[in-house]
Amino acid sequence: MAQGIIENLITELIKLPGIGRKTAQRLAFFILAMSEEDVKGISRAINEVKEKARFCSECFNIAENEICSICSNSSRDRNKLCVVEEPSNILVIEKSKGFNGLYHVLLGALSPIDGVTPDKLKIEKLIERVKKNEIKEIILATNPNTKGEMTAQYIRELLKPFNVKVTRIAYGLPMGADIEFADEVTMNKALEGRREM
Ligand SMILES: [Zn+2]
Repeated sequence: MAQGIIENLITELIKLPGIGRKTAQRLAFFILAMSEEDVKGISRAINEVKEKARFCSECFNIAENEICSICSNSSRDRNKLCVVEEPSNILVIEKSKGFNGLYHVLLGALSPIDGVTPDKLKIEKLIERVKKNEIKEIILATNPNTKGEMTAQYIRELLKPFNVKVTRIAYGLPMGADIEFADEVTMNKALEGRREM
């Protein structure tokens, strides 16, 4: 019954973040009215992301191969490393076009209360990279909230024995905010205004 398959689609869409029953309903009927080609494009993209995406073995960005497209790009500045919490943060920084170095994704932020201790994050791998590469500057671009600050401070301490400049992005980004929602201009200013820690 047609009612059943629409209802099924609505049930699936509700699983997405920020999608309530009303929005799911609206989306379901929108999808119903879309061309077959467009709908296939969406479902193909969703399937592909699960089939092909994995973490870059160097920086933990999302990659299609062993090494992500940024790490394998020879025109990137290998002296600069920008540390972020999540792969999605890289998209925002890349869009701002204010950074041409490499990244390191922590896959989270410190939160001992929730059991997120340093060993749960990709911090050890970061130190390994600092040891073996010619990194001259590390930009800590964790979120400007309590967890992000704690994480930045922790990494700053760990990096003290190394001969590397450590900077923190500036806040045109409002305190308590999430990098994910920063626009390009704000992100660019945050990078430009970074200060040594
Ligand atoms: Zn990478």
